[in-house]
This record gives sequence, structure tokens and C-alpha cells, in this order.
Amino acid sequence: MSRYEAVIGLEVHVELKTETKLFCGCSTEFGKEPNTQVCPVCLGLPGATGVLNKKAVELAVKAGLALNCEIGTNTWFDRKNYYYPDLPKGFQISQVFRPIAYKGYLDLELNGKSKRINITRAHLEEDPGKLTHAGGSIITSHCSYVDYNRSGIPLVEIVSEPEIRSGEEAKAYLEKLKAILEYAGVSDVKMEQGSLRCDANVSVRPVGSTVLGTKTEIKNMNSFRAVQRAIDYEVERQIEALMDGGRIIQETRAWDENLGVTVAMRSKENPDYRCFMEHELAPIELKTEWIEDVRATIPELPDARRKRLVEEHGLPVYDAGVITSSLDLAEFFDAALKEYPDAKTVSNWVMGELLRLLNARNLELSEAKITPGGLASLLKLIEKGAISNKMGKEVFEVMFEEGKDPDQIVKEKGLSQISDESQLNRIIAEVIAKNPKSVADFQSGKEKAIGFLVGQVMKATRGQANPGVVNAILREKLAE
Ligand SMILES: [Zn+2]
Repeated sequence: MSRYEAVIGLEVHVELKTETKLFCGCSTEFGKEPNTQVCPVCLGLPGATGVLNKKAVELAVKAGLALNCEIGTNTWFDRKNYYYPDLPKGFQISQVFRPIAYKGYLDLELNGKSKRINITRAHLEEDPGKLTHAGGSIITSHCSYVDYNRSGIPLVEIVSEPEIRSGEEAKAYLEKLKAILEYAGVSDVKMEQGSLRCDANVSVRPVGSTVLGTKTEIKNMNSFRAVQRAIDYEVERQIEALMDGGRIIQETRAWDENLGVTVAMRSKENPDYRCFMEHELAPIELKTEWIEDVRATIPELPDARRKRLVEEHGLPVYDAGVITSSLDLAEFFDAALKEYPDAKTVSNWVMGELLRLLNARNLELSEAKITPGGLASLLKLIEKGAISNKMGKEVFEVMFEEGKDPDQIVKEKGLSQISDESQLNRIIAEVIAKNPKSVADFQSGKEKAIGFLVGQVMKATRGQANPGVVNAILREKLAE
């Protein structure tokens, strides 16, 4: 297998965060009744022509700049002609010849190494409508429904150079791309709502060769994890086919999530979209000053933020990478850090408890009830010794579910830690009396025995004793 290498390029469609569609005033709001957000323009009725949405241009330029692209100052739209029921005009308005952004890149960090993936282009286009097949698949359905609410929604299509070499790299590329676009505020980048969609072009070639092999295009991947699995499967399938003396057919293949395989959808030998310039829309001429004004609105992006967390707050690079992987998480961290300025402790709780519960409950951070201020208060309680670290985790979970104040939870659950020495003295005396062997072991130099005795005190107090205080008292008593 190692005689071959994979050559992967990704095409990512990202929905721009505009209120209205690309060429008409219809709402872009997600989840409305089918065909309630349509007009003659986005239904493609004869004679209806639209006007370009300036906000969409601004967001596309912003996306391009955030991805280190050059911006085209003289661009235009083209017609990409094909027939499909989700495309009422019979052509899609896109930018075939002159993309609004081109020649960019993004940097990945993978297994401690950095890799740059170049971005060929990012162009503006309109989304087609959405087909729903009544019987599961296009082949087995007795009918299909079409919803044009999505028709005409502004997209930016971001095309990478074929420089990705594995499913893992593809996933890392998507995660980075998503974070950058989210930080820049150009899109919601929600794969489950279709505001980020990805197709992969996959081919293989002998290691050392510079000639590209025949590629297949993989569609229907609904998560970053699915993209990784689909690519890994497809690479292996192509290598096996070639090693068996077969050849790869240029085709579009669909990822089947349940079976874990890609299946042939249609052959795609030289598609001809008969593209030509869209003359019913004015060309897009951008002034350099306007582009610079847009650049000035781009906030701190993930790489800069990660660097800041490492350099200013001393966080390990790994922690900083996890925390800056989504804007929500980074904002939560920063807000908690303001009230509890111990970066590593905050990071441990965010990466440990917070991410663990979010993953276990399959929730977004915005759906959790815990606030950064709440976490800071909890950490102060632990630092004071009012509760143990272990109790803190219990309190954290209640805060996560119910959003209550940690002091209140500690009171309600009777969790406060026993640091009162007179109360502890009594319990410790009992433990010493009951465990003469461990006492003797410790006194004869077996340091480990003290751990057992501390454990017994913790057990007797149902975990409420302050282990640090217990340890100190025990040592004092046993030294007598
Ligand atoms: Zn419309």
C-alpha cells in the first residue's frame, strides 16, 4: 500500500450569513415551511432579474481575506448551465472565470507538525433548491419534493489545491477552515443545517510521481468524521483496484455512512456546463480602499488567538489549540480567565469537564447552562478549600445542567468540605485506633501507608474531609 500516495482536494460550500438571498430580498432563515421564502427571482420565473446583495460580496471578501487570499477587483458572474429539478432557471449563477478571491492558504497543525494547504479560489455563487426523495434514495423513491427556500442563498465555494494526503488531514483542514470562517463572522458553518458542505476529489498515484491519477468525487458526507472515513475508504479502494491491475473510472461516488463504503452514483467524464458570462448582472468592481475597510473588520483569527494564549498566558500549545478550535469555547475560556486568572486550571476544567459533558450530551456550548463566571466561582471555592476537587466535578455537572450558582449547589447538597480540625481530630483518632498495622507500617518508614489512612478518613467523612488537612494532622499525630 505504501507504494501509493493519496492526492485529495476539497470543495467546500459555505453559506454566507446574510439576512436576504444573493439576488433578491427573500429571507435566508433556516427551517421555515417549504417554498415560503421565494419570489419570481429565486424561482427563476422568466423575465425576473435580481440585484446583487452587497452584504454577500462583503462577506465573501472577508472570507477570502481571512484565508490569506488575493481579492479580485474586477470580477463578474457566469452562468453554469445544467438541468436538474432543484435549479429552476436551468443554470446556476456562479463565478467560473474570475473568482472574487484566489491564491490563499491555511496552516494546519497535525501531530505536532505544521502543514500549509493552499487555496486555489473562493468564489461567490447561488445555492440551488433542495430535493427530498420520498422513499429514502433517488432510485427507490416513487416521488421527490423540491423546496426553493434555499434557492438563491449566497454561498462561497472554497476550493483547495490537491495537497491533502489523508482523511485525517482533510478533517483537520475542515476544522481549521470552519474555525476561521466562524471567527471571521462570515457563516454559521453548521454542517447539520447545510451551511457548510464538503465534496472531496480523491485520486492516488505511485509515490514520487508528479502525474495526477484519475480522480473520483465523493459526496454525501454529513460530518467531518464522515469526510475522514469516506476518504480513507476511497483511497484504499483505489489502491486495491490498481494493484489488482484494474483502472479507476472518473465518477461521482456517494458515501454510505451505515455501510462505511463509497458507491458509484454517476460517471463524470468531462462535464460540460457551457459556461458563459451572466450579462443581466453588472460586473463587480471593488475599490482597494473598500477591501481594506473590510479587512479592518476582521477580528482576531484562530492562529493569532492560539499564539496569544501560549505567549501571554503560558498555556501548552495543545491546550491552546483545543480551546481556540471554536469561537464559543475560546470566548468562554477568556471570560472565565478574567475572573480566575490561572490559565492552566481554567483550561483543565474547560478541556476536561466542559468538553466531556458537551460530548456526552451531544450539545453545543450555547446549549449548556454553565457560565464562565460560574466556573470562576467554582474554582475559587476549590482554591479556598471549601470543597474538594472531586466535589467540584459534581457541582460542575449540576451547574452544567441547571446553571445554578456553585455556592447554592454546595449548600443544597451539603457538600462543604470539612476543614475544621476539632471535627477531623476525632475521626482521625478513630481511624488510627482501628488500623494499627498501617500505623506501624508508616512509622517503620513505609511512606505509602499514609495514603491508606487518608483514604480511610475520606471514607468515614464520605469524601468531605479536606485531604490536605487530613494528611497534615495524620503526620503530626503519627510522629508523636
Ligand atoms: Zn427570492
